Amino acid sequence: MDAALVAGLRAAEPVCFVNPGRRPMAEVRDTLPVTLAGIEAARDRFDRFAPLLARLFPELGPAEGVVESPLLSVPGLARRLHEAGLPETDRVYLAADHALPVVGSVKARGGLHAVLCVAERLALAEGLLAGPGDDCRRLAEPAAKAFFAGQTLSVGSTGNLGLSIGVFGRGLGFAVVVHMSAEAKAWKKDRLRAAGAVVVEHAGDYAAACAVARAEAAGNDRLHFIDDENSVDLFTGYGVAGLRLPAKLAAAGLSVSPETPLCLYLPCGVGGAPGGIALGGRLALGEAALCFTVEPTTAPAVLLGLATGRHAGIDARELGLTGPTVADGLAVTRPSALACACLEHVLDGALTVTDARMLRLVGEAHAADGLRLEPSAAAALAGPLAVRRAGFPARLGRPAVHLLWATGGSLLPDAVFAELLTQAGACACS
Ligand SMILES: *Cc1c(COP(=O)(O)O)cnc(C)c1O
Repeated sequence: MDAALVAGLRAAEPVCFVNPGRRPMAEVRDTLPVTLAGIEAARDRFDRFAPLLARLFPELGPAEGVVESPLLSVPGLARRLHEAGLPETDRVYLAADHALPVVGSVKARGGLHAVLCVAERLALAEGLLAGPGDDCRRLAEPAAKAFFAGQTLSVGSTGNLGLSIGVFGRGLGFAVVVHMSAEAKAWKKDRLRAAGAVVVEHAGDYAAACAVARAEAAGNDRLHFIDDENSVDLFTGYGVAGLRLPAKLAAAGLSVSPETPLCLYLPCGVGGAPGGIALGGRLALGEAALCFTVEPTTAPAVLLGLATGRHAGIDARELGLTGPTVADGLAVTRPSALACACLEHVLDGALTVTDARMLRLVGEAHAADGLRLEPSAAAALAGPLAVRRAGFPARLGRPAVHLLWATGGSLLPDAVFAELLTQAGACACS
């Protein structure tokens, strides 16, 4: 690694790593561990199960069972970015995954897809569905629910993934056990317990919580561990968001091209959600998409995995970075091997942002456009200026469309959000 980059990382300063491994999509698309066909299969599974989801989750009724969010124009944030030096010709939009129905975070797609994969596999084996084309609404009937009640889903989580697996899994009738790491917020645990999931609290970090869950599930065929660090089902579920970008851009009246690229700013923990979105986005848009991860300065897991080439073989703790951060969704010091393998040639760059900045950005998003974001999601807002200042690829000398990927926050309880705004105010003065 470059000496200046290492020094910046060690000092927990914001950095911008430009990925030298980035390749044109046509060169690498057939060499990746996750394929376009895999992500399309996930999209088709969402479509097949939409009628069941509309029946099980009243919130999904209006959208007929499709879990999606729009691209929003954010005039207030755009004005602030332009005032701070973003070229006037650049446009700024927000991917509103913080408002995804049912679970209020980017984990909705990945978690739901992983749950549906288990449910479909078991239902086919058990004869609850006659074949893949059978009417999935049969799984809302008492016989199916009784069967699922004897099956347990388990997952390790910093909060939002547990919430997604817990709420969707319970909705289908599964028993659910969520192993929560130390940083998981009390309100997320409370919500899970209210949904009927069992929450196991761990004093250790996220990787430790996952390790316990993984070990417990080994050799038990009624216990289904959803592995955030390695699950292709999670990854392809996230990837569907990328495949849906062209339709969403069209709906927002936006057109992008290699000359006027779409720059995606993706808050990043273990790398699954940003990895899936980046891969799906680049498969759908090719060289018209540039993808950047954003991580806390105290937990730059994917940045380190890619910059060192060691992927999941490195832990930020080796640099003396221990991971505590206000961004509970990003509090991960070791990246996913699957995500690193997918991002190695797909990602344009990796940024870091301090806790104080994330808190200020929570306040700015609220003041500017009335958004309710958690700090993990607000991290995306640091992207456009950092990328422009890093003098990013020559073609960014041309106009760009910046897409801030808001990954969570709409379900933050009022008191918790008020406290975040107070902290944001304190950071703004300091
Ligand atoms: C989980 C999460 C992310 C990052 O996803 P990873 O798959 O862990 O990289 C980003 N933002 C929020 C709010 C999250 O919950």
